[in-house]
Amino acid sequence: MTDDHYRERRSALVAGAGPVGLTAALALKRHGVPVTVLEAEPENRIRPGSRAIFVHRATLKLLEEISPSLGYTLAEKGLVWPIKRTMWKGKEVYLKKYPSPDPEKLPPFTSLPQVEVERDLHQACQEAGVEFIWNAPVREVDTDRDQVTVTTEDGTLWKSDYLIGADGARSAIRRGLDIGMEGSRSANTFIVVDVKEDPENPMPLERVFHYHHPAVGGRNVLFVPFAGGWRIDLQLFDGDDIDEYSGSEGVRKWLPKVMDDKYADRVTWVSTYRFLQVVAKAFTDPNGRVLLAGEAAHLFAPFGARGMNSGVADAIAAARAIHTALRTEDPASAQRVIRSCADERLQAAKYNRDAAGVALHHLQGRSAGMKMKRYMAASLAPMWPRLGRWLDEGPYGPKSGPPAMASKY
Ligand SMILES: Cc1cc2nc3c(=O)[nH]c(=O)nc-3n(C[C@H](O)[C@H](O)[C@H](O)COP(=O)(O)OP(=O)(O)OC[C@H]3O[C@@H](n4cnc5c(N)ncnc54)[C@H](O)[C@@H]3O)c2cc1C
Repeated sequence: MTDDHYRERRSALVAGAGPVGLTAALALKRHGVPVTVLEAEPENRIRPGSRAIFVHRATLKLLEEISPSLGYTLAEKGLVWPIKRTMWKGKEVYLKKYPSPDPEKLPPFTSLPQVEVERDLHQACQEAGVEFIWNAPVREVDTDRDQVTVTTEDGTLWKSDYLIGADGARSAIRRGLDIGMEGSRSANTFIVVDVKEDPENPMPLERVFHYHHPAVGGRNVLFVPFAGGWRIDLQLFDGDDIDEYSGSEGVRKWLPKVMDDKYADRVTWVSTYRFLQVVAKAFTDPNGRVLLAGEAAHLFAPFGARGMNSGVADAIAAARAIHTALRTEDPASAQRVIRSCADERLQAAKYNRDAAGVALHHLQGRSAGMKMKRYMAASLAPMWPRLGRWLDEGPYGPKSGPPAMASKY
């Protein structure tokens, strides 16, 4: 191999320039650690779909800490819906109105397309001096007590003290380290459709969840507004022909039954999911040189918006642990720092997987008991608003929990 194939040893590498890898790189830079990001795709790629539209305040706060004004900028670009409403067979069972958020503080959440978050993260990384290597898919990874070696597709060897594996659901880093995933898969299929808003005549900003929407044969439908558009999730029944609902003709048939006809001409993205609920068996390698983060480490159903949000917390925790380990002279202590971070984020991921599982059970649970619980809650909600709230909050799972988003690192 020629010298071209060996790169100067780095302090830190990040694999993947999705939201989690970008956050990791920015956080490392914030700690003064030079970092290189290896990304499989070209710089000006177009990433489809709205995906992680719901960004929690905890995430905005973390981003604000690593890049002052980033949290507030994202908050301003997104929107906060002032109303959430839950319907049962076409009748309202829950309504909540929120006061306008204080513009001086970060809002409880902001809703905007994931690509917008990625764009601002990328810009912040460039301003901070992060090095990017595009078109550089990682092929192999190897660790020993002293370092990690990454081989990219063109045969180049990258040596580094530490690596954050943020290369997404099919992570080459995770597979290269032979770390398996544990968990399950959602029972029903969901069709996810994005539509562009009509700025001349927009719909009111409300997040609306329909149990048993009468216009689509009793399937559940969720409407979520985001800056510039709407996401509509349709939950199919067992035995539904997925293509019939997800093909462009299919969407043109059912979408106008649940929203104004004009939106059938404003569809920007259609996707079909059976959600995985899986967590990596370990978040680090035996030598404590790699930390997995984001979808490289866990996949959750999107109910509760835990994917990107917890990935950001993984990334910031990993960067902090690497910064500490780099300053620790005793190798055993440095390894302990990495292990402790990996364990903490593994616990957080399990918590999030289970919380998203509670939400899935709420939506899909087929036991007679669960069906009866939903039915009774809907029948009694007019008398007991708490039951309406249960129906409303159920699809998001438990609200928080100590390890969900935050990290002691
Ligand atoms: C319909 C839907 C709705 C969602 N809603 C929400 C939500 O509201 N809130 C939320 O928090 N989350 C949500 N999520 C989840 C969120 O989209 C993901 O958690 C998020 O994209 C994960 O980011 P990541 O950086 O870990 O992975 P990715 O975004 O997948 O990025 C991985 C990066 O690694 C690169 N890569 C891949 N292989 C290699 C390789 N071999 N070498 C180098 N680079 C590589 C890829 O090109 C990519 O750039 C949703 C997901 C879906 C599908």
